[in-house]
Amino acid sequence: MQFFRSDINNHFLAQLPADPETANFCRTVTNAAYSTVQPTRTNNPSLIALNTSLAAQLTLNIDDKEALAKLLTGNMVLENTTPYAMNYGGHQFGHWAGQLGDGRAINLLQLDTPKDGSKTLQLKGAGATPYSRRADGLAVLRSSIREYLCSEAMFHLGVPTTRALSLCLTGDSVVRDMFYDGNPQAELGAIVCRVSASFLRFGSFQLPASRGDISLLKQLVDYALQHYFPDIGQPSKESYLALFKQIADETCALMVHWMRVGFVHGVMNTDNMSILSETIDYGPYGWIDNFDLNWTPNTTDAQGKRYCFGAQPEIAQWNLFQLANAIYPLIEDAQPLNDILSNFATKYEQQWRQMMADKLGLEQLDNDSDPALFIALEKIMSASNTDMTIFYRLLATLPYAENQWMSHLADCFYQPLTDEQVAQWHQWLSIYVARLSHNKWSKDEKIERMNRVNPKYVLRNYLAQQAIEQAEKGDYAMLHQLYRVLQKPYDEQPQESELANKRPEWARNKAGCSMLSCSS
Ligand code: AMP
Ligand code: MG
Repeated sequence: MQFFRSDINNHFLAQLPADPETANFCRTVTNAAYSTVQPTRTNNPSLIALNTSLAAQLTLNIDDKEALAKLLTGNMVLENTTPYAMNYGGHQFGHWAGQLGDGRAINLLQLDTPKDGSKTLQLKGAGATPYSRRADGLAVLRSSIREYLCSEAMFHLGVPTTRALSLCLTGDSVVRDMFYDGNPQAELGAIVCRVSASFLRFGSFQLPASRGDISLLKQLVDYALQHYFPDIGQPSKESYLALFKQIADETCALMVHWMRVGFVHGVMNTDNMSILSETIDYGPYGWIDNFDLNWTPNTTDAQGKRYCFGAQPEIAQWNLFQLANAIYPLIEDAQPLNDILSNFATKYEQQWRQMMADKLGLEQLDNDSDPALFIALEKIMSASNTDMTIFYRLLATLPYAENQWMSHLADCFYQPLTDEQVAQWHQWLSIYVARLSHNKWSKDEKIERMNRVNPKYVLRNYLAQQAIEQAEKGDYAMLHQLYRVLQKPYDEQPQESELANKRPEWARNKAGCSMLSCSS
């Protein structure tokens, strides 16, 4: 049976140097961009969820579900394809970690789609690779559901992201000590097939640079230029600089999106930063319920809070600094790289202001007075435990009459407000309403515009956790429901409004809902 109508191109394999060793054991791999590796066979592959619109884009024939489950778990490898794991390094929590690589990701194949260019299909959790170090190369259902749902939720929110084509059970069990507290449990093994034009990371350039392997570095950077940034032109110092500038600009835009929708990645190590500036590697991420710039979902990060919500733009800049260091040998001029890096903060600030103006429904951003309004809002939102998502949706329809403001907003607070907080809200809302009078838009137009940037539905941590608990018992109804609703995150979908409710009290400090470990 023919799975794809599109041609398999295997560009990455053909153009970049392979590890000559083909046996599957853990090792240091030098002078090579990847190692070929066969996915591990699994006991009883079954398909739980399939992204049919993405399948159509990929020209994938989905008629035979059994065969599909085999393909998407690595139990069947197509002729003229060669699965491989990519070699890369990274800074983890601020420290250079050396070679990391795809320890549990295996690229299946790369194909030319009719409308969206080249796409790579990658299995996450298909068994050990030469980069697995001491780990098993497997993934559990819980983390696979989180990746499957969240990457698609991000896509439909308009946030650049890798995508998820499928979610399969392997039929094997996988042992995990979820909280690293000596309580290992057998969990269901699962595999997500994810899709992107490229899975190259900042760390893909960092590793050869760290080893002084300028030849491999250049091959990788030239490959990226040729395939993903064709408008920049032929390889040259100017092109490398333009490439860096574009990655910096797009990473900046990505951070603005994350801050707009309330997404906290949780592990912004440089090996988890895409060269294409897509959200990649969904691990212990979380969504902001009550607005809190200091919140991190990752228990490993609970102390330092390096990757907390509000730090993300700064960390992105720090990561870009590492990327600049990595490609410096190809440019040999620090000044223009530094200029791009120092511009990052200014650019981010400007784009963040525009994003806030959009969220608040302001027709024209006033750079003199609006920033103070935005900062005051953030302060009062955190001080009064305000649900970020619900707040912005309610704000769109704020009544004119001042005495109705607080009852209108009542649903977005996690605790009753003190008199002082009510007074602060009145003060802020008075300034805001006066500010709105500068708009020329009609009231309806303002509401419509606000609702296009302020989602009603996000993948709240407790909802993902409920879907996981049900799926672990074999009930996939909520998984499918969330998947469906999150395809239209800006629509009211009144029959589904339960999924827009704020986090219930039981979920406030529950594992999986507010705290997540890297164990997955
Ligand atoms: P992360 O920060 O979770 O994206 O992962 C950091 C590194 O650990 C990457 O090189 C992963 O491939 C590797 N890794 C994570 N989990 C596993 C696992 N279960 N088996 C093998 N490698 C893993
Ligand atoms: Mg990773």
